[in-house]
Amino acid sequence: MTTSILQPGQIEAAAGDITRLYLPTPTLFADRAERCRQLATDHPLGGYLTFCAALAQQQQLEFDQFPLLPLPDVKVLHHCREHGMPPLAPEGWPPHPHWHEVVQRLLKVGITCLPAEGQQAVRDAPTNDPSWLDVQKTALLRGYVERLDPAIAPFIGAALQVQWSALASRLSVTELPLGEEHRLCPVCGSHPLASVLSATGPAKGLRYLHCSLCGCMWHMVRAKCSNCDNGQGIEYFSFNEHLPHVQAEACPDCNSYIKLIRQEESVTIDPLADDLASLALDLRMGEKDYAKTSVNLFFLHAAIPARSHG
Ligand code: FE
Ligand code: FE
Repeated sequence: MTTSILQPGQIEAAAGDITRLYLPTPTLFADRAERCRQLATDHPLGGYLTFCAALAQQQQLEFDQFPLLPLPDVKVLHHCREHGMPPLAPEGWPPHPHWHEVVQRLLKVGITCLPAEGQQAVRDAPTNDPSWLDVQKTALLRGYVERLDPAIAPFIGAALQVQWSALASRLSVTELPLGEEHRLCPVCGSHPLASVLSATGPAKGLRYLHCSLCGCMWHMVRAKCSNCDNGQGIEYFSFNEHLPHVQAEACPDCNSYIKLIRQEESVTIDPLADDLASLALDLRMGEKDYAKTSVNLFFLHAAIPARSHG
């Protein structure tokens, strides 16, 4: 099914003052775990969603007790704001060694939810070697999918999400670069995970992109390609009758798409969980030769878009 709706900014023009950035909420991972559990029921990927729920639950524990690591100082934040640069970009803000401990605890919890084959793949990986973990971490952050161990990548991604969310949650929105529309996260420079159309509160009717790494959400007008800024001929595809609130927003100019997840008043959606539960839509978009421009660190697509800042 395909429909064409709206022009860029059509809704936002009437929305008045818009909150351009939301920092990660304190219950981000607990909410994610709950949504993964909801979606796992009678789902073909129920086993994997249950595994993701266990990881997210442990992420919440780690987030709640995360050490107060240093943040960018006033001078760095000012410089980033002046030049529209993300202050927590991994290139300039490498993970603290604490992430090694986090990944070990995630492995301990997560492995019990995997099938025998997956458990063996985890045991075969040299996860006790910090230098190997660092190589995997760098490959993941730079999008070098071919260098990643697929059995370990979700654990690495989960550990890094905890660190970046913990750091981002302690920043102040007023300190961050927000002057223009951002294709990548204005806080950490990562690709979006998906976009969400809010149904409640002051953000009702507005579209936000959710960061795949730090969990921030930043505003972008609807009906506009988040990859190339094109606003003409945007189409919406929805194939899964069980998840009609998840659509693929496709751009005819750059042949790419990103999921648009429509929040429903009675349901707390989560971009990571809803993206995973709608993988059937990704398969259909792939058949149409559209490339996915978003990143889900719990299920790495064949090609993570090259990391860049824009
Ligand atoms: Fe981010
Ligand atoms: Fe485009």
